[in-house]
Formats: sequence, structure tokens, C-alpha cells
Amino acid sequence: MVNIQTADIMSDYFSTYSRNLRVVAWILRFIHNISNVNKLRGNLFYEEFKKAENLGFKSMQLRSFQDEKFLAKMQAFKDEEGLLRIRTKLVDSDEKEDFKFPVLLPANDVVVKLIREEHKKAMHAGSYILLARLKENFWIIKAKKLVKQVLNECVTCKRYKAKHVEVPFAPLPRENVTQTKIFEKDHITSHIRGQLSENVADIKSLHSSCTKKS
Ligand SMILES: [Zn+2]
Repeated sequence: MVNIQTADIMSDYFSTYSRNLRVVAWILRFIHNISNVNKLRGNLFYEEFKKAENLGFKSMQLRSFQDEKFLAKMQAFKDEEGLLRIRTKLVDSDEKEDFKFPVLLPANDVVVKLIREEHKKAMHAGSYILLARLKENFWIIKAKKLVKQVLNECVTCKRYKAKHVEVPFAPLPRENVTQTKIFEKDHITSHIRGQLSENVADIKSLHSSCTKKS
């Protein structure tokens, strides 16, 4: 029988936290199916993911938090599932239970992957928002340092932070920048005005000849 309580089950073999979790959930499904008459089939259930995650947290806690004095100082306690949680100052508030009693997590590579995933879920949020989101569920040792590490390593964030290169304006078309003398622009108008003057003169002479005849 595999001792799944103490196994190094949340190993760091996979590229993302979700992938790690999925593999652990499938291992647990396999263990369940070989030791139960009622077999689980099809896609993984939410409860299976949750069980895998809690088991991973417990495995990390077991390896990282052996110092009883430290746990007492942190006001840590074990919940009904055996998870180490922190009793915050918000015990009597109306906040969610996970916020009042966050899960205690160490600073390790798995937790860095968890933070990286949360950073992406939060649309590449900065440290302030990311820390606030993590605090809703977890009390991570050296959280600020790990968040800073994730932000510094994020390629997408680096790309957006990169300074824009100053590009000179494209030259305007010549006709837009060449000064034009008024008569050059207006030569058609003056031509029409000349034609009109001639017509008026013709009408005047015709009128005067008609007046003389009458
Ligand atoms: Zn980012």
C-alpha cells in the first residue's frame, strides 16, 4: 500500500502548477481504482483536484515546518483535513474562512509555480494586487520576495515594460510644406475675373448704342 500521506507527491517535474496538480490527481485516481470496487471513470472531478492540492500542501508542510516554536509563534494550527493554517487577526470578521485562516506554505519551487499561475490568471497583475490575491487563500513564507522573482522572470511583463524606441516623424509631402504666393494659387480666379470685366464692358457698350438709336 502506498503511503500517500508522506509520499513526495507534489514533485516539481512539470512546467506549470496546474500540470503538477493534474498528474497528482491522476495518481490518486489510480490508487483509488486499484483499492476500491467502485471505480472512478472519465474526466477528473473538482473534488479530486482539491484532494490532490491539499495532499501536495500537506506534503510540503511536512517537509518544511518541523519547528514547533516557529509554528506556535505563527499561531499555526491543523484543520480537520490536517492542513496547517494561520490564525490571523481577522478571526472575528465576516471574511471568508480561507482569508481568516490561510494555508501556510513554504518558499519553494512549487509555490513559485503557483504564484506564476496566479499572476497569469490575474492578467499579469503587479505585486500589490498579486499579493492581495494570494492572501485570500495562502500565507506564503517570503511571499514578497517570491512575487518579485515571478514578476522579474515574466517575459510578457518584460515586453510591456520595455522602453519604446523613439521613431522620427515621416517627412510631410512637399506640397504641404512649400509656401505658395497668393497669385500662384489664385491665377484661375483672376483669369475668370478678367473675362467677366470684358463681358461687362461689352454689355455697357451695347446698352449705350441702343440708347443712342432710340
Ligand atoms: Zn507577467
